[in-house]
Amino acid sequence: MTEKTTPRLTVLAGPTAVGKGTVSAYIRENYPTVWFSVSATTRDPRPGEEDGVHYYFVSDEEFDSMVENRQMLEWATVHNSYRYGTMRSMVQRALDAGRDVFLEIDLQGARQIRNAMPESQLIFLAPPSWDELVNRLVGRGTESPEQQAIRLETAKEELAAEPEFDYTVVNDKVERAAEEIVSLMGLTR
Ligand code: 5GP
Repeated sequence: MTEKTTPRLTVLAGPTAVGKGTVSAYIRENYPTVWFSVSATTRDPRPGEEDGVHYYFVSDEEFDSMVENRQMLEWATVHNSYRYGTMRSMVQRALDAGRDVFLEIDLQGARQIRNAMPESQLIFLAPPSWDELVNRLVGRGTESPEQQAIRLETAKEELAAEPEFDYTVVNDKVERAAEEIVSLMGLTR
């Protein structure tokens, strides 16, 4: 590892199905010093997802109270359906402990982080092409056709937001894209 002084907050955003989860998983596995925020969400767990590991799965009432009590650093309703948010205290604790913090969130959340923490760096994960993005979304088969249509609509808007980001990384190959991201974070193996 290289000498690093100021721990930073890195936000990875990008359109649905671009592979943010896979790229993040690679970084998590290979760069254990990075602290990954676990978001709260009102959606139900998918098979294999664990509470407190992939997300904190909370009720609408619990989410409301977290928002009212200003516990969310950012939050958003994603794909016109469920709410997702980053818990302020956990991020602060990790930064205070000197960890590099990594958030994998949607575009609305990325904008809120930019305003709340201007020193953060925002990375846009882009697909190699629009067709490839459609293939990945349909191919993973986790959403109903209606949900896929909503997500593709959102993806068009999200792609247009690329210039708002500090950096763009193309997810052509998971390992290559992930290594580019960690080098932007100033980390080496
Ligand atoms: P999924 O339901 O597929 O796990 O995630 C749907 C979307 O929610 C993804 O684009 C993901 O980046 C976004 N997301 C996950 N956690 C958060 C969060 O804490 N805040 C925001 N704004 N978006 C999030």
